[in-house]
Amino acid sequence: MKTKTKTKTVGETKTRGLLREGFPMSRLSTWGVGGAARLLFSPADMDDLRAFMAGRNIADVVFVGHGSNLLVRDGGIDGIVVRTAPGLCALSLEGDAEVFAEAGVGCPKLARFCADKGLAGAEFFAGVPGTVGGALAMNAGCYGGETWDAVVKVRALTNDGFYDMPRDDFETGYRSVRAKSGGDVFFAGALFHFCVDDGGDNGNGGGARARMKEMLRMRGESQPLGKASAGSVFRNPPGGFAGKMIAECGLAGMRVGGAEVSRKHANFILNCGDATARDIESLMEKIQHAVREKTGVLLSPEVRVVGRAQ
Ligand SMILES: Cc1cc2nc3c(=O)[nH]c(=O)nc-3n(C[C@H](O)[C@H](O)[C@H](O)COP(=O)(O)OP(=O)(O)OC[C@H]3O[C@@H](n4cnc5c(N)ncnc54)[C@H](O)[C@@H]3O)c2cc1C
Repeated sequence: MKTKTKTKTVGETKTRGLLREGFPMSRLSTWGVGGAARLLFSPADMDDLRAFMAGRNIADVVFVGHGSNLLVRDGGIDGIVVRTAPGLCALSLEGDAEVFAEAGVGCPKLARFCADKGLAGAEFFAGVPGTVGGALAMNAGCYGGETWDAVVKVRALTNDGFYDMPRDDFETGYRSVRAKSGGDVFFAGALFHFCVDDGGDNGNGGGARARMKEMLRMRGESQPLGKASAGSVFRNPPGGFAGKMIAECGLAGMRVGGAEVSRKHANFILNCGDATARDIESLMEKIQHAVREKTGVLLSPEVRVVGRAQ
């Protein structure tokens, strides 16, 4: 039976994905704050995205995965937001140890997929609540692993179209990624190379699953999981830990409106229910000021702040 695909039209563009005007970004951010996007597009698949992006400048678009490292200001985004999940969701094993994942695949899903295929090296993704695209943009990492350690090449969208770009085309570092050619890049997907798991389970992923379980246990012990946050707010400065510095400055529990510095992990800011983006940003500024006064170090935000203040 043939299914009819509904198309919608924006200007000259026909799309199959979801298009919404005035979409509340608080629904696309793990902090649960932020004003509305003028236009939200959630592509049905990569071809749909390709059609939508034709003739647009990618610098005019804000790409969003799970919004787990994003602070959208209360005045919202006066432009286009493209959401990669759940449309860009292809995930496949290529050969023995290579995995292709589109941008909207959840990091925990990638970790479980690799373990199921008897691969090791993706376990750290299990506790990162973002998408593959967000992890590529941030070089997300933890427990000794970083996203770009395993990248062979990425499928990238630039203003000239879609390209496969090898890892060497990028400069990567701690929570930083930059195309050597300069300019904005949208990560549509990536090919990763992992290792065949030799964890004592004949390559059946038992070792990887056990390591994932242990990492999730450690995370549960040290982080305020289950509360609205965006993970670590500040990057660790060279030779130090932002959370430890914030706690040592006596800032755990400090509040601005509905935003609070977590007492369990002081580099997390929690939305206690009624926080605004302004509350969170003010608390970030207060933390920066207090830590600088006491230690001389200016903490630099890891979370990306976008949009207009109200
Ligand atoms: C409880 C909790 C724990 C966390 N633990 C960790 C951790 O251990 N390690 C870690 O590194 N991070 C951690 N994070 C932060 C976050 O999950 C990661 O940075 C994640 O990679 C962000 O992915 P996302 O899809 O949510 O990106 P978003 O928050 O949606 O976007 C983040 C940035 O990436 C850009 N972006 C998103 N998708 C794309 C794309 N396809 N192409 C280009 N740019 C894109 C956005 O425009 C934005 O600038 C944690 C967050 C939470 C809430």
